[in-house]
Amino acid sequence: MNSFTNKTLITQEFAVPPFTKQIQPFPGLSSKMEPRPDHGEVSYRGTGRLTGRKALITGGDSGIGRAVAIAYAREGADVAINYLPDEEQDAAEVVKLIEAEGRKAVAIPGDIQSEDFCNKLVKEAVSQLNGLDILVNNAGRQQFNESILTLSSEDFDATFKTNVYAMFWITKAALEYLPAGSSIINTTSVQAYEPSAILLDYAQTKAAIAAFTKALAKQLGEQQIRVNAVAPGPYWTPLQICGGQPQDKVEQFGATAPLGRPGQPVEIAPLYVTFAETSNSFTSGQIWCSDGGTGTV
Ligand code: NAD
Ligand code: MG
Repeated sequence: MNSFTNKTLITQEFAVPPFTKQIQPFPGLSSKMEPRPDHGEVSYRGTGRLTGRKALITGGDSGIGRAVAIAYAREGADVAINYLPDEEQDAAEVVKLIEAEGRKAVAIPGDIQSEDFCNKLVKEAVSQLNGLDILVNNAGRQQFNESILTLSSEDFDATFKTNVYAMFWITKAALEYLPAGSSIINTTSVQAYEPSAILLDYAQTKAAIAAFTKALAKQLGEQQIRVNAVAPGPYWTPLQICGGQPQDKVEQFGATAPLGRPGQPVEIAPLYVTFAETSNSFTSGQIWCSDGGTGTV
């Protein structure tokens, strides 16, 4: 008889629902969430997979973007982050974490609903990082609305400007600088494939991002630039508690995923690292999903 005992491999425990109801004004702060999301501050360990790389990450102050910023710095990259001026407190924490790795951190606040700002953002990132070879289009706006009849044109416009237009403007501006071997990574969502009734505008933008990713991968192959996307399922981030979901959904957030809980941002960062690294040189036009077992994509 084999005397092997099947010990658990799980080394870290993640928060399970129910969560306390909580609401913050948009855009919300990670530092005020209960429990605080886990962005890998303590746990993420790098192994030099992005040594010497230069990355711009939108929405890099909190949630998924912050986890990617921490991971990239620990893998050896210099990192510029964009965020809204109201998020300065979260952004300052990220800057400290990047600098603690001995990497350069560049903080560029501003509203990506403006084409002019998007152009300035890219120029500033390139100038301060002295180049750019990873672009992570991750910022997003999600505000639930029960009915098409109460969804205003202003809201519809703001969601499309933030999620679709900004990605187009920032990517276009970045292409002037991205060398062969660069990687563009966009954040889409399971909402692109299984849209919720209350996320009519948001789900459309995420479907647009999936199509943008696949079409652009075809355009940029010739330049040896890879374009991919990550499709998160439920992740515990400020987006969800500042108008992204009704409060009863916040309480049970992630409960229906087969893993029985929402993901924590640290759990998705490895997908962004893998997409970015040059050893993954034949993967483009792909959408990788992380949804706790639902198998949406
Ligand atoms: P988050 O709130 O931490 O990040 C979103 C970020 O978008 C904010 O931090 C903010 O800096 C940025 N942003 C929003 N509007 C902006 C504007 N006008 N100008 C500049 N920046 C702006 O939440 P998150 O969940 O980490 O979101 C990151 C991405 O993940 C988003 O694209 C979101 O749609 C996507 N996503 C999240 C989930 C989830 O369950 N959390 C699921 C699927 C997809
Ligand atoms: Mg934020």
